[in-house]
Amino acid sequence: MSSKDDYVYTIPDIPWRNHFSNLLFSGDLISTGLELFLVGGLTTIAWFKYYMVNVAGSMPLLELATFMWIFSAQRRIYNSYLESVYFAFPAYRTQPVKEHALKSKKDLVGREPEQLETIIKHDRMTLVSQFFLDVSIYFLIPGYYPAAKETYGPMYYRILMLILNHYVMSFGMYWTHRALHVNPYGWRYIHSFHHWAKHPLSRTTYQDHWFDNFGNAIVGHLFAQILVPLDNQFFWLSRSLRICESLEKHSGVSCGFNIVHSAQRYFPFAQMPHHHDWHHEGHKGCNYTFTSIGGLWDCVFGTRKTGRHPALAETSSDRKMANTEQKTSKNSVLNHPWLCLSPVLMVGALAAVKLKYQLA
Ligand SMILES: [Zn+2]
Ligand SMILES: [Zn+2]
Repeated sequence: MSSKDDYVYTIPDIPWRNHFSNLLFSGDLISTGLELFLVGGLTTIAWFKYYMVNVAGSMPLLELATFMWIFSAQRRIYNSYLESVYFAFPAYRTQPVKEHALKSKKDLVGREPEQLETIIKHDRMTLVSQFFLDVSIYFLIPGYYPAAKETYGPMYYRILMLILNHYVMSFGMYWTHRALHVNPYGWRYIHSFHHWAKHPLSRTTYQDHWFDNFGNAIVGHLFAQILVPLDNQFFWLSRSLRICESLEKHSGVSCGFNIVHSAQRYFPFAQMPHHHDWHHEGHKGCNYTFTSIGGLWDCVFGTRKTGRHPALAETSSDRKMANTEQKTSKNSVLNHPWLCLSPVLMVGALAAVKLKYQLA
């Protein structure tokens, strides 16, 4: 039996209508209203002042607004798809049904009412801060959102660039994520908010402190697109894949229904969603499995985890393995509360130098 099979359950389900989440962002009308107002406003500006607001070398502003509409819809649709899979196929779940049962004063993923109130506020701040970040980047960095072209380079080259871009993105996000676990302030004031969900469902994907989402957009997407720019079509494809990947790893299931994870599982050291599930399960004790896409960096930097958190491990070999890995990682110089940020600062410096050269 593979280690993955140890965490698959066939316990009878709780009726689906006791679980199903709202299609609207966070189930929060204010957030949905804000989103309609901001993206609708941008669309109106782009539509009526079409020739005045476009940045040379970038996609037209109207395409950026379309980009926001389409990916907002994709997040909602794919979230519903993954949650349907979760409820329809209990055998593929990574944690037992009882962990997801609605407990008194806790939601399906294990959060308390005050935590949920805080999350709703941060959802709203995430929405506003991400919107202004995206629009600011459009005007400050010409060509960042690549314009469509008549012809593109050879397909093998474009695919290689996509893979490279994703590994660079994953590197920045890996070190930031690791730093947020290792640095006591980063953990307490920022990243612990995301970890209130102990048995995540896809709805919890972007439910972070707003600055966690903001930072990831910079150290992940921004740095990668500056260092390894994608063309228009692959830029769209990359964002779409990233949305699926993020939602899948919080889906609570690990199987062929996780389309993007299944497609990339032949890459070296690739992860499946259960790896990130375990990362949530152990709270701060789970100082391992930080990679966002792929899985390569966890293996390179010694934080790949192959079993459940020691407190929740079901077999003695899991427990032993988890304890050994945690001791090893605590002794590493890369777990210094501030030095652990140096790899991502180096990537940022490289991106700044390249940008300066590009804009000169
Ligand atoms: Zn984490
Ligand atoms: Zn997560």
